[in-house]
Amino acid sequence: MPNLKSPLGNASYVNHLNKVKVLDVIRRARAISRAEIVRATGLSAPTVTRVVESLISEERLVRETGPGASKDIRAGRRPSIVEFSGTDNAVIGLDVGATSIRGILCDLNMQVLCRRELPTQVDRGVETILDSIARIVHEMLAEAVSLEKRVHGVGIAVAGLVDRQSGVVVFSPDFGWEDAPVYAALTERLDCPLIIDNVNRVMALGELWHGVGKRFKNFVCVNVGYGIGSGIILNGEPVYGNRGLAGEFGHIPMEKDSRVRCKCGNYGCLEALASGRAIALAAQQELGAGATSSLTDRCQGEIRAINTEMVAEAAKAGDDLARHVFENAAVYLGIGLAGLINLLSPEAVVIGGGVAEAGDVLFDTVRETVQRRTMKGHATGVEIGKVTFGLDATVIGAASLILNEVMRLKTVGRGRGKKSVSLAPF
Ligand SMILES: [Zn+2]
Repeated sequence: MPNLKSPLGNASYVNHLNKVKVLDVIRRARAISRAEIVRATGLSAPTVTRVVESLISEERLVRETGPGASKDIRAGRRPSIVEFSGTDNAVIGLDVGATSIRGILCDLNMQVLCRRELPTQVDRGVETILDSIARIVHEMLAEAVSLEKRVHGVGIAVAGLVDRQSGVVVFSPDFGWEDAPVYAALTERLDCPLIIDNVNRVMALGELWHGVGKRFKNFVCVNVGYGIGSGIILNGEPVYGNRGLAGEFGHIPMEKDSRVRCKCGNYGCLEALASGRAIALAAQQELGAGATSSLTDRCQGEIRAINTEMVAEAAKAGDDLARHVFENAAVYLGIGLAGLINLLSPEAVVIGGGVAEAGDVLFDTVRETVQRRTMKGHATGVEIGKVTFGLDATVIGAASLILNEVMRLKTVGRGRGKKSVSLAPF
């Protein structure tokens, strides 16, 4: 006889699954009656009543909103409506980037309640960065207290290869870190649940839960900022690869005999040719070689101060040199994306990061190059556009790391004294 009672088939596990299912239905509907939950989930009326009661009184993720319009005249009773308690609960999302650490406190409907930002100060070392992260989190927790919000945890996006299970940053060229135990170091400073993940995957997760993921199950989110990375979603799930290191789109080698050195130590990577850093460097080199451009005025003669935003603004204003530099980067990006589309056959590619803010100057060339360089028919119908939340894509994604755990009613993090997200009363 096969053992029919699997270890996952016990009552508490089934109860947990039912709760997750009901919570998801309530959140998607915003406001719904118990009878409608019964219809939507296929669960029995007594089960729905019991689960909803628990979600109201124990997890405090659902609340009563009073009687709705009657749908049953004979019964004469108006159904009691419940709704997702998104505004009473909050999460914190942080993007630890090469130049700045940005944080948001937002409710579970992803409405931003407050923001904090500090310079990263990479040259001051890892301890300074960790202290800055802790300072931002403490300030936002204080804000949450004054707003009477219950915070469930902190999601942190880091540029680099992140082992999500251990919270170790395996390698980060931007910070010069190798095997940095960031999670362990932060739990010494912060007494709340934490999740750390790679910034590009985090951006893709934010899109999956709140952006293009509402329409597509297969898409790639490409982050073109100081560096280039990507998060890949296939069949509605993020691709982690071996050790969770998948998605290093920026380090696809593009040139055989390139002399352009990449920050990873290799030569001719896409990132070395098309990132924000590459665009700024290319403009600086052209001007240094004697080219004329409105960029000279924009940087007040200080060529080394030219950054990506200046080049983007000049390109938008029609500056020939800036347009040339941007279009050159966009062609490389388009060629890289053509390879990615041939390989994965996604429904959409969304591009975020500072470079994507340049708009049509970038996207026109990228779309045209993708059409030209993909295998016949492969790019047909593939949407190529900007990420849903613009420059907030990474912080919204980081906050979503916690939201996802809350929605699954899961324990997150190993912060001191905090065993469960729903037991994190700050
Ligand atoms: Zn590289």
